[in-house]
Amino acid sequence: MRARSFFISTLKEAPADADVVSQQYMIRAGMIKKLAAGVYTYMPMGLRVIRKIEGIIREEMNRAGAVELLMPIVQPAELWMETGRWEKYGPELLRIKDRHDRDFVIQPTSEEVVTDVARQEIKSWRQLPVNFWHIQTKFRDERRPRFGVMRGREFTMKDAYSFDRDEAGAGVSYQKMYDAYQRIFSRIGLLFRAVRADTGAIGGSRSHEFQVIANAGEDVIAYCPDSDYAANIELAEAQSVLGGRGEAKETLEKRATPGQEKCELVSEYLGIDFLKCIKSVVLAADRTNEKGEPLPAKIVLVLLRADHELNEVKAGHIPELKDGFRFATDEEILAAFGSKPGYLGPIGAREDVAIYADLTAADMTDFCCGANEEGYHYTGANFGRDLPEPVKMDLRNVVEGDASPDGKGTLKLQRGIEVGHVFFLGTRYSEPMQATFLDENGKPQPIQMGCYGIGVTRVAGAAIEQCHDDKGIIWPESIAPFEVVICPMNYSKSEEVKKTADALYESLKAEGVDVILDDRDMRPGVMFADWELIGVPHRIVIGDRGLKNGEVEYADRRNLAEKTMVKTEEAVAFV
Ligand code: ATP
Ligand code: MG
Ligand code: MG
Ligand code: MG
Repeated sequence: MRARSFFISTLKEAPADADVVSQQYMIRAGMIKKLAAGVYTYMPMGLRVIRKIEGIIREEMNRAGAVELLMPIVQPAELWMETGRWEKYGPELLRIKDRHDRDFVIQPTSEEVVTDVARQEIKSWRQLPVNFWHIQTKFRDERRPRFGVMRGREFTMKDAYSFDRDEAGAGVSYQKMYDAYQRIFSRIGLLFRAVRADTGAIGGSRSHEFQVIANAGEDVIAYCPDSDYAANIELAEAQSVLGGRGEAKETLEKRATPGQEKCELVSEYLGIDFLKCIKSVVLAADRTNEKGEPLPAKIVLVLLRADHELNEVKAGHIPELKDGFRFATDEEILAAFGSKPGYLGPIGAREDVAIYADLTAADMTDFCCGANEEGYHYTGANFGRDLPEPVKMDLRNVVEGDASPDGKGTLKLQRGIEVGHVFFLGTRYSEPMQATFLDENGKPQPIQMGCYGIGVTRVAGAAIEQCHDDKGIIWPESIAPFEVVICPMNYSKSEEVKKTADALYESLKAEGVDVILDDRDMRPGVMFADWELIGVPHRIVIGDRGLKNGEVEYADRRNLAEKTMVKTEEAVAFV
């Protein structure tokens, strides 16, 4: 590719609402363009990254024996009614009507449609197992779209669905996907951890998340360095709050801690799923009298992103504000959160606002659930792939240094970005939709299912979160928009430079290297800054001075300070 015939458009500054590094750099590098909240155009430079991620996924899905198809984005509501998700899903499900007033959804995931395919197509045990997958646009009307492509509303997901005769078979299919995911994220070149996503009651092996380790992550992983134990504490946390009124109350009370520990409490208790899906944070200070009876509890409600959220408060979306809430004073906010409101997560530059109120424990419970009424269905239950029972909260109170549940050491905590998720579904969908097959005895049996997602577009953001510096992105080679950039100095003026650059470009291309030649004739500083921002892993600079010795200059994006002079004729081999 030659830069002039491609499209490059970089920015010096990121927009003020870009809250994490990956979002800032993707916008500045001209990879994405925001169209609406959580909705982005993938510009040519960004699309190359997405296509490479898709390519790796496609190869590994094929290798695992899964079969690609393509299911529609727009799906009839009837199917969603069959599984009950039409009611259950909540406002995250985008519902639309056609001209005949019929209901449709924009798919957030495809269990219904794929189960409909299976019930029509699969008749006999001889056709099983089978795993259908696609890469398709998803829409989830996320309450808090943020972090650029990492929590978009429209995004691209690879989703796969396995169909088996029995649970044992489903276990084999699950393991195949688990292994494929290991290969996919290793090949992409990410530091990641596969963690148990369903802790406790349901048995640990039926849902795993693949988490990219990064501080900007919204999830918290508890892992044991001395064994392979690793789990996301998000699910347990979210369910403890949202799983039921009694539970919420109990949890809040149990965790009540006075004053200066509030920061830790918020982060540990609510800083994970809660923060990303609802706007408010609730916490209680310990209030019991000498007899141990509960006193009115203090609630602190933290509204992130003051300007936006306040509008909603004023519009009355948080009715609790009327009875007993008031805005906290600056001093109170400071006292509650010290000098580090950033502890609550990467919330951008804007100010936070806290609201204080004195309420009873009962109010508190109501508040906790009431404030989440909208998010209630989807938070912590993973988009209606509802676990049959509220999960027991093994990790509810986990802190670093606690004993690992496997008894093999102590737990450590780290932040992660969920890039993939494998689920055992059992007959959760096949039963209500009557997707059955005839077994060897001619008896109808419900198909055992599993589902497996990867956030294709989120992977791009996660890779940047994991690897960048103050100049820009440092892509792993596997998903970089280009592997090598040739930067000629005075391309149009120096015959020698042009000749060498063109020849090198042609030979790299002939070797199958994904190379771009920057023929834009820009000042070297500006040209270098562009490619450092864009994050191409290998750079070759060609200038008259080096050519005098028959040399070009090579630099690795990971270590720009170290430049190596390479004989021109050896450059291809060197790269
Ligand atoms: P999260 O906990 O981050 O909201 P999820 O558990 O709701 O994700 P799944 O239903 O497991 O997501 O979907 C499979 C994958 O799709 C996730 O592992 C993630 O990589 C990706 N994904 C989910 N929501 C989004 C989003 N809003 N933007 C981009 N990718 C997403
Ligand atoms: Mg999740
Ligand atoms: Mg989600
Ligand atoms: Mg998930």
